[in-house]
Amino acid sequence: MRCISLMIIILLFHVACKPQINIVDKPIIFDEARKVLTLEYIEDHYGLEQDEPNIDPKIIVLHWTAIPTFEGSFDAFENVRLPSWRPDIKNASALNVSSHFLVDQDGTIYRLMPETTMARHVIGLNHSAIGVENVGGTDEMPLTEAQLKANIALVKYLKKKYDIDYLIGHYEYTNFENSPLWLEIDDGYRTIKTDPGIDFMQKVRNATENLNFKPVPEKFKTE
Ligand SMILES: [Zn+2]
Repeated sequence: MRCISLMIIILLFHVACKPQINIVDKPIIFDEARKVLTLEYIEDHYGLEQDEPNIDPKIIVLHWTAIPTFEGSFDAFENVRLPSWRPDIKNASALNVSSHFLVDQDGTIYRLMPETTMARHVIGLNHSAIGVENVGGTDEMPLTEAQLKANIALVKYLKKKYDIDYLIGHYEYTNFENSPLWLEIDDGYRTIKTDPGIDFMQKVRNATENLNFKPVPEKFKTE
């Protein structure tokens, strides 16, 4: 009897300690062609010669897709090459944008690619950044409470798994220019971002305060 009680206690302890997160794997295409384009991007933009397109995660970057549906958002990342409607960043590389995670409006978390493979989602920092995209973000389809909860759970899960220093919103990425993590070679390659909104970021930060992320750097001075 005592033995059974002990087993129940161990089981309850195990359940309580297990991170309460459910991740659905839904891989985008990551074939040899995407691998080659990713390695080229790493060399052309970061000056790094690597055999594998791997990253050392130090930053989590939260985004919104500004596309109102899950299917539309997934389609934007799935193919290997940039679609013709992204001429703004096509000159920098033909590699399509992507993200490690895509969170649907109902809070379902999809993993689109391995967490330590490089995704193109944030200029200057892709070599050390895990991307979390959220479906929506437009006036008609703002981010939801379920997405907020999912992002908080995902940030906790990732922080536990990797040696992450920073949690940022995409709109904050240029604050890292001239910091040691910033590797972009092309000074002309920048885009202006507002995702995932200041309000959403503040809520995620408040809920993950005890994880002690480093503060987002003030813009580093260039001499
Ligand atoms: Zn973004």
